[in-house]
Amino acid sequence: MNTLNIRGDRRKLITGAGAIGAGAIALLALDACGSDGGKGAAAQTPTAPALDTLESADEIWQVLLDGNQRWADGDSVHPHTDAEWRESLVEGQSPRAAVFSCVDSRVSPELVFDTGVGDLMVTRTAGNVFDPLVSESVSYGPAALESPLLVVLGHQRCGAVTAAHEALLAEEEGAEPEEHHYALPETVEALRAAYEASKGESGDPVDAMVKANVLLTVQALSEHPNLAELVADGELTVVGGVYSLETGVVTEIA
Ligand SMILES: [Zn+2]
Repeated sequence: MNTLNIRGDRRKLITGAGAIGAGAIALLALDACGSDGGKGAAAQTPTAPALDTLESADEIWQVLLDGNQRWADGDSVHPHTDAEWRESLVEGQSPRAAVFSCVDSRVSPELVFDTGVGDLMVTRTAGNVFDPLVSESVSYGPAALESPLLVVLGHQRCGAVTAAHEALLAEEEGAEPEEHHYALPETVEALRAAYEASKGESGDPVDAMVKANVLLTVQALSEHPNLAELVADGELTVVGGVYSLETGVVTEIA
């Protein structure tokens, strides 16, 4: 895959960062923490962006967690949603993180991490399960656009995981699975490993299965042919998190 043009766009975007609008103002405090990548005085101006200049996965993850805290507190600032910022992305994109999450309408990554357009490359499937086709989309950000961070995000009370748990438990007990008006046989199969891995865990079995699914997915994507070398070279960090519907907080799991 020829990524040279895309990478060139990234440099252009960073160089042109001074023209970025007021959408990132509320992220200024992060620049004050030394995350400006040595860009000096320009980063101190009220228009300096934060997330889009970061190269370190740790710093990017921290910005996302800070954004999530704002979301959980009801203090979202919706950065990078103004027209000026949108126009600055016409020639190219440089999402700083890829997020692989569930289709659940309550768990929109851009909102949950209080980010805007161009910040995250998001792939979503029911139960955040993947196959070869989906994994190409998940790996596109890190492999083609040099996103240094990939977040696998599961969530509390996931409907897909709940359905899979129900079906696999019924299969194990030799019971007739409950009839549903909407069947997810491929998704159930894709979640079988998480079901097996979470057996015997204490607490809510679906929550345990959600967690197991995130951890297995982090491992599998870290070893994916498109990503393994990036991970080995330290150019990509893959983290797992679980989102609480009750609190709005994403908790990193390992
Ligand atoms: Zn879900």
